[in-house]
Amino acid sequence: MTDFRRARENMVEQQIAARGISDDHVLKAMRSVSRERFVDEDMRELAYRDSPLPIGEGQTISQPFVIALMITQSGLRPDERVMEIGTGSGYAAAVIAEIAAYVVTIERHEILAERARQRLASLSYHNIEVITGDGTLGWKAGAPYDVIMAAASGPAVPRTWKEQLAIGGRIIMPVGAEAGYQTLVKVTRETETSYSEDVLDAVRFVPLIGAFAWHGSGISDGTS
Ligand code: SAM
Repeated sequence: MTDFRRARENMVEQQIAARGISDDHVLKAMRSVSRERFVDEDMRELAYRDSPLPIGEGQTISQPFVIALMITQSGLRPDERVMEIGTGSGYAAAVIAEIAAYVVTIERHEILAERARQRLASLSYHNIEVITGDGTLGWKAGAPYDVIMAAASGPAVPRTWKEQLAIGGRIIMPVGAEAGYQTLVKVTRETETSYSEDVLDAVRFVPLIGAFAWHGSGISDGTS
């Protein structure tokens, strides 16, 4: 039987720290969250693989290194408020919530959102709110956010997110083609009206489907 604690420690050392992630908050958060709790029973043995894994609805739990990289690039600090788009399994939201004060995470598939909600409640995360809907619209009720993180890739950074970003806040998002590779982009709100943009690493994400991204076939409730 797999020793998940040991597997998690190896993941942090070999997949994350060894690739140059040295932020103590990020390493501690990655050590704290049990990835095997965010995948189906028959996937648990694979939970600490250096790759995404299927979670249903044609979606994936992201590669641990990419989550660590995005949080590091955002410069997330402990007192900050975060909006994540693309809850998926809820794993990245849990890692972020180990550091941040508050996380709102949005998922367009009701079935994934509900599963994530239940998992996160059973793991006693009280600083995460899971919303079902189109995350490209953002979530005005919780704005402004210090960090906005997209776990799916779109053609450009939605203006709704820029509007909901605090001054000094950062958006981290994969931008580029609907299929294949994209570029991780960091947008910082410098003042009320000005933003700067940095281009970071090459990544590969599932598409962001919504009003301010790619246009998919609508929201699935998992019944069709
Ligand atoms: N962060 C997740 C985790 O840790 O499991 C992985 C997310 S998965 C790579 C991307 C997710 O984005 C999918 O679950 C997909 O349904 C969701 N998604 C795509 N477009 C969306 C949108 N407009 N609003 C909300 N969620 C969206």
